[in-house]
Amino acid sequence: MHIRRGDTVLVLTGKDRGLRGKVVRALPKENRAVVEGVNKVKRHQKPTPSNPQGGIITREAPIHASNLMLVCPHCHKPTRIAHRVDEQGNRTRACKRCGAVVDAK
Ligand SMILES: [Zn+2]
Repeated sequence: MHIRRGDTVLVLTGKDRGLRGKVVRALPKENRAVVEGVNKVKRHQKPTPSNPQGGIITREAPIHASNLMLVCPHCHKPTRIAHRVDEQGNRTRACKRCGAVVDAK
């Protein structure tokens, strides 16, 4: 998957199209990610011991990675990424626009 936790991403589709947010959780198995402030859904929560009041709570739902584009931390533009292998054999991601390596470890 091209998205990792901590990345800033741009939403390409859906009602949050155009929003930028930080990836708080990546779900590579499902090809999805949870993005801060994006794809909020309201859940009707029954009262539980930890939340005796219950009620309607808002939380972010995972969004499909194909609907997200990475925002390069160097040139601050939405970009596709190139997968590279460095001299140590580590797989890194690079910005296709400016060529900068995106992964800061
Ligand atoms: Zn860049």
